[in-house]
Amino acid sequence: MTTAYVTHPLCEAHQLGADHPESPERLEAIQNRLIAGQLMDFLRWREAQEVTLEQLNDTHDPDYVASIFAKAPAEGHVELDQETLMMPNTLDAALRASGAVVQAVDMVMSGEVENAFCSVRPPGHHAEYDRAMGFCLFNNIAVGARHALNQYGVQRIAIIDFDVHHGNGTENIFQASPNVLYASSYQYPLFPYPDPGASHDNIVHMPLEKGSKGEDFRRAYEAELFEKLEAFAPELIMISAGFDGLAEDPMGQLRLRESDIVWLTEKLMDVAARHSQGRIISVLEGGYNADALGRAVFSHLKVLTQL
Ligand SMILES: [Zn+2]
Repeated sequence: MTTAYVTHPLCEAHQLGADHPESPERLEAIQNRLIAGQLMDFLRWREAQEVTLEQLNDTHDPDYVASIFAKAPAEGHVELDQETLMMPNTLDAALRASGAVVQAVDMVMSGEVENAFCSVRPPGHHAEYDRAMGFCLFNNIAVGARHALNQYGVQRIAIIDFDVHHGNGTENIFQASPNVLYASSYQYPLFPYPDPGASHDNIVHMPLEKGSKGEDFRRAYEAELFEKLEAFAPELIMISAGFDGLAEDPMGQLRLRESDIVWLTEKLMDVAARHSQGRIISVLEGGYNADALGRAVFSHLKVLTQL
């Protein structure tokens, strides 16, 4: 397997203050772990391009996109909501974060690589069609998925989201799109609090109680997702890879271990081999214990690379 690793130095230039959990150290920890474990040498490292305005406008409300560009501060910060801030480098980082996923789609769909991991921030899955939320400005994975639908005529994309938080933004964007199956496992109740409730046929909810362990996580996927995923037969699998469900994470109260992430990644690799020509694009979302994040991304990539 050839696996792309798409990132950009500007994703680390986005600083939210010394105490903010969504910190540049997250990407450093991943990179350091991949280098120390000698996995980086086997990845096709690529510097992310900037997403285009047209690509953003294909996914988000153009008025919303324009408002984000207009609000970008030259100094100080702007609050988009209580926890979503823009600093001087935030817009540049966000453009590279979404651009990374577009680039990963191009690399995977052209056959240059089998699969890809986008090591980016700010994250994206809380960003809705016309609203920034939960550290997210643009919905990186949704922008990439829309690019795959528009540019490559892909008919069926499955987006699997194992972040501890429900990916309300991705659901909001694709809830009426039969071309996209969106499945999210998440701690409930937890941010973004409203109960997602019953939804459309292409949306799968896997709520997990506080304190849930790997066996609960696995049971939810076995019961709610795999059969549906098999029937959907995705041509492309995308993963909203949030590592804040790990037991060590300060933001959630699930008790997942690295082996649970490995288990899910292996399951998705099997589905991809059967239906998607191996095509998987994994995109970093949350994960706020830098050490646990580095280790878990390493293990996730060991499966993607089949090393
Ligand atoms: Zn999260």
